[in-house]
Amino acid sequence: MKLDSLYQEIILDHYRNPHHKGLREPFDAEVHHVNPTCGDEVTLRVKVADSAGEHDQPVIEDVSYDSMGCSISQASVSVMTDLVVGRSLDEATRAYDEFLALMQSKGQLEPDEDVLEDAVAFAGVSQYPARIKCALLGWMAWKDATVRALAADDGSAPDGPTADQPSAHRPTADDIEETA
Ligand code: ZN
Repeated sequence: MKLDSLYQEIILDHYRNPHHKGLREPFDAEVHHVNPTCGDEVTLRVKVADSAGEHDQPVIEDVSYDSMGCSISQASVSVMTDLVVGRSLDEATRAYDEFLALMQSKGQLEPDEDVLEDAVAFAGVSQYPARIKCALLGWMAWKDATVRALAADDGSAPDGPTADQPSAHRPTADDIEETA
């Protein structure tokens, strides 16, 4: 696979020194995504703040992750966190949309460096269909986790446990004391 050497350097740098890596608390949602064709895996957490500073919309407060796999997948998740952490939901989604378009471009799209920053280094990957899933793994995990975090924030999570469901008798502190 031939990539521009500068781009290759950026990818290797993120691979060797990943940004924002490690699972952190607190978080609103956690997802686990795998790319079976290559064996890449990522567990990713997102913390969303209602709004902050000049933003009057949700802000991606933190993205933390644990991951394993090829250099493309590992570098891509690191680059992605730089583009979403501390950004408003709109900004982060714009970067996601740009990256998705770049990956689907078959090498025909000139990447917008103002939006994508280091992620422009993955432009060449779009010519290698087998590697596109590697590059997208972390981004898909972020999108999935963010959608879940926002849903949880609304209180509209459809299948959470409800307080008044009929349930079997659960031992209480009193029961435990009686039998002790
Ligand atoms: Zn891979």
